[in-house]
Amino acid sequence: MKQKVYEKQKGVCVKCRKRFAIEEMEADHIKPWHEGGHTTEDNCQLLCKDDNRRKSGR
Ligand SMILES: [Zn+2]
Repeated sequence: MKQKVYEKQKGVCVKCRKRFAIEEMEADHIKPWHEGGHTTEDNCQLLCKDDNRRKSGR
């Protein structure tokens, strides 16, 4: 699934809009689990590790 989202985004981080290798990116739920979000392609985006850390850091 990660691979699919990666291809959809063409390897571009949705936050900083730079290109990364797939192993440098992490999946993120657009709509969080506790709000009823599902782990589907449509509800997933890939962030680079830096942005993902920044997002979940607070
Ligand atoms: Zn980024």
